[in-house]
Parts: sequence; C-alpha cells; structure tokens
Amino acid sequence: MENIDWKNLPFAYKKTDFNVRSYFKNGEWGEILVSDSEFINMHMASTCLHYGQEIFEGLKAYSGMDGKIRLFRWEENAKRMINSARGILMQEVPVELFREAVFKAVRLNEKYVPPYGFGATLYIRPFLVGLGPEVGVKAAKEYLFVVFVTPVGPYFRDGFAPVDIMICRKFDRAAPRGTGSYKVGGNYAASLQSLKEAHMAGFGTTLYLDACEKKYIDEAGPANFFGIKGNTYVTPKSNSILPSITNMSLMQLAEDEGMKVERRLIPVEELSEFDEVGACGTAAVITPIRKIVDPDTNKIYEYGDKNEPGPVCKRLYQHLTAIQTGDIEDKFGWISYLE
Ligand SMILES: *Cc1c(COP(=O)(O)O)cnc(C)c1O
Repeated sequence: MENIDWKNLPFAYKKTDFNVRSYFKNGEWGEILVSDSEFINMHMASTCLHYGQEIFEGLKAYSGMDGKIRLFRWEENAKRMINSARGILMQEVPVELFREAVFKAVRLNEKYVPPYGFGATLYIRPFLVGLGPEVGVKAAKEYLFVVFVTPVGPYFRDGFAPVDIMICRKFDRAAPRGTGSYKVGGNYAASLQSLKEAHMAGFGTTLYLDACEKKYIDEAGPANFFGIKGNTYVTPKSNSILPSITNMSLMQLAEDEGMKVERRLIPVEELSEFDEVGACGTAAVITPIRKIVDPDTNKIYEYGDKNEPGPVCKRLYQHLTAIQTGDIEDKFGWISYLE
C-alpha cells in the first residue's frame, strides 16, 4: 500500500506508476504497451492538435469493504467511446481492447486504489487522439489510445452539500446537431468562458439552455440535470447533451424504488415546480442544487432547507454509491471485479 494521506486526498491529478497505450497504424490496433512516462511524443501536425480529434471517457475503480476492487459499468463507457469516435470520424476502440487496457491500467497501479471508507476512488481516464501529419481538414490515419489512472478524493471536500448555479443564455456548450452528445474535448473548450463567468459571479457552474430556442434545460455544466417532482424523476430529452451513465443508472434506481421517470423537454419555467434538483456525473455522482439564479430575468429558484440535500437526492446518492462500493447487492449486474 502506498503511503498516501487518503483522508485528505484532493480531486486532482496525481502521478501513478504506469499508463497503457495502443497505437492504430496501417489499419490495425497494436498490442497494449505499458509506459512509465507521463508524456506523449507526437507529430506537430497531428489532427488532435489542429482539428480537435480528441475524445475521452471517465470512470472509477472502487474498493469494497471486502478489499475487492470494483469497476462500475465499464462496458457503457466502452460503447459511448465508440459512439464518440464515430461522431468525429475517429478510429473506434474495440470493446475488448478498451476492457483490457482499463483493467491493465488499474492492475498495474493497484496500490493507488484508495482503500474503503475514505470516499476516495481511483479515477480512470481513457482517451483517444488522432495522430500524424494532416494539413488539410480530414480525419487522421493513425490514432493513439491511452488509459491513465489517478487517485482522487471526494469531488466536494465538504461532502454531499448543495451548490448554487447560474442559468447561461450568453453562451452555448453545443448545438442541436453538433457534437454535444459525444464526449469530445472541444465541447469543454466551448464551455470554459461560461464556466469562468459563473465562477466569477460566485456560482458552482452554469445551467445551459437548448441552443436553438433557449427555452428548455440542457445540461448543468459538465453534468446531466434532473429534477424531482413528487414521486417523479424528470431529466431533459435533448440531442445536444452527453448521455450520462450516472443519469442512466439513477433513472433505473428511481424506477426500482417505485418512482416514475420522465425523459422529456423541461421548460425553464418548470424549475419553479420541482421539489429538488441536482446535477449528476461520475465525478460527484449527485450534486444537489440549492439555488438556480437566472441573471436575465432576475428570477431565483430555491430548493429545500439551506444546506441539506433533499431526501430523494440523498436516497438515490446513497443507493448508487452503496452499489459502487459493494455495500449492497448489485442486482443490476453493474459491477465488474478486477480479476
Ligand atoms: C462525462 C459527462 C457527463 C457525465 O457522464 P457520466 O457517464 O455520468 O460520468 C455529463 N455531461 C458531460 C458534458 C460529460 O462530458
């Protein structure tokens, strides 16, 4: 076991011992190479540097009370990466290569998987870049697939506490027929301006509206949005949001708990009708939202009591994290053990 202060581990990059890589060249994927370097050597005219051919994934490995290391729904990340690759004409990473690389990266860095009980996890970052000199706008012929891992503490140091967010009309993250549904680096570049403005105004993140009509809720920064209305879980239907695996899992848990689930357009005004709202993604699982401010209409939507997450957010959060760490039985078949 590595001598790490697991209790105070920040949510930040920390060097581990190895990463794994595979090159696609001459029409085929090469073997999985193990590297101890944090650097990549590439041609300066590579398509990832000029034309944005970069996609990524994010998942976690969790230690259970039984000491076993668990991965959560990695096949969904593999499938989503294939979809992202198709979206911007990159070479697809086969599911089997994805699995081998991810499991190998975790196994090689097993001593960095935080032990059970600290709320810390091993964050896994697979990514794919287009390589090789292309000056005209076109897809690369060569690709590099890398998986690195880094141990991270809980996303929010103060634990599961609500945040305030701001509606964003000034910027869009993604267009309806653009790349919003693919996990591409370019979507994050497009979000930096609005994120900076939100931070400067004292908010945790921005709430994007649909880019076309500016009438419906899209995403909450780099996370999916959901609202709780009585016994119903409501989440936006939009083709410019990233299909979150956390959201997909929460919808299934909500149904399993006897809630109704609706995936549909959510008009901005409906924000006043929810009992609870939250953002969800792998990093924080659920971020409960206390207040949504609309700077253009001066409307303020508030939820719950001061600093307490709502009861449904709390229940869903506990249910999902208990499955991830193995505290309760995984009846959905979402867990894979590190073999
Ligand atoms: C990765 C991501 C999410 C969250 O997806 P999960 O699979 O739940 O981690 C949500 N929105 C955007 C824009 C993302 O890139």
